[in-house]
Amino acid sequence: MPPVYDVIIIGSGPAGLTSAIYATRAALKTLVIAGTTAGGQLMITTDVENYPGFPAGVQGPELMELWRKQAERFKADFVDDNVSKVDFAKHPFTVWTSNGGHEGRSVVIATGANAKYLGLPNEERLKGRGVSACATCDGFFFKAMDVVVVGGGDTAMEEALYLSKLCKTVTVVHRRNVFRASKIMQERLFKAPNVKVIWDSEVIDVLGTPKVEGVRMRNGKTGQTTDLKVQGLFLAIGHVPATDVFQGQLKLDRGYIVLRPRDGLSTATSVDGVFAAGDAHDFRYRQAVTAAGFGSMAALDAERWLQSHG
Ligand code: NAP
Repeated sequence: MPPVYDVIIIGSGPAGLTSAIYATRAALKTLVIAGTTAGGQLMITTDVENYPGFPAGVQGPELMELWRKQAERFKADFVDDNVSKVDFAKHPFTVWTSNGGHEGRSVVIATGANAKYLGLPNEERLKGRGVSACATCDGFFFKAMDVVVVGGGDTAMEEALYLSKLCKTVTVVHRRNVFRASKIMQERLFKAPNVKVIWDSEVIDVLGTPKVEGVRMRNGKTGQTTDLKVQGLFLAIGHVPATDVFQGQLKLDRGYIVLRPRDGLSTATSVDGVFAAGDAHDFRYRQAVTAAGFGSMAALDAERWLQSHG
């Protein structure tokens, strides 16, 4: 008979692996369902300079390899597969992968989110060479340079304002003539002296070899095409949380898991005994270090919950 785990952790990015370290060190029998492409968003990141403890910076994949080794050291079981189905209606909970069902008395969901990209061939080619979806992560590499931010929501405003403090100029390219961002964020953006906005326009190509040297834009109203010389292209057109498999099982809002803190358990979800950590619920901070923080909180919450309900 396969074991009933104390906790099943779904996901193996910073949130999932930190949860695993905390759960196993608390002597909880732990299964990590790591995904077929394990490691999360840092696996497609090059230099990470804002993760504490690495004074010279660290490569994203190297950081995740170290993180996984640390989680394995305390004997979590790992399954490198995706979750195909879950049943949170019955206790113990069941989580299915291609080799069958796994039972857990509690679950931590740490499946993360993926940034949306425009889907242009040259955008893909230049990812990590001037194309980024995270100003906090990569803005530093564009000091005193010219960059474009695509999007018109709060994230685009935030990214553009962050970059305006580092870069020479920031051009926000938006496909309509009105932003959907909150008024306060828009006002801040309009006040920034080195930020300009190009309305009604879409980026249709990214130029440069081997790094970004410019973008090609098309005005949706006039059809006119123009090139702009920039060294960086930041996408801020939203994220997609990886939560499809939880539809109908948990309360979600626009795909994000809704936290329902109760009984002192901050990472509780709408289902008792199911906790969430990282970008699958957090659309605001989205940092490796905050995801790791949420991961430790979710494991501590699961441990406390098991003490009274397990
Ligand atoms: P969002 O609100 O969905 O905005 C996405 C933006 O990208 C929109 O302006 C959209 O244009 C544009 N866009 C989408 N697909 C595009 C495409 N293919 N090509 C060109 N443009 C495209 O996403 P978000 O800004 O990431 O925010 C997500 C949620 O987090 C929101 O609820 C937001 O309020 C919240 N948030 C809050 C804060 C804060 O309070 N400090 C910070 C960040 C995010 P259209 O407008 O034309 O649709």
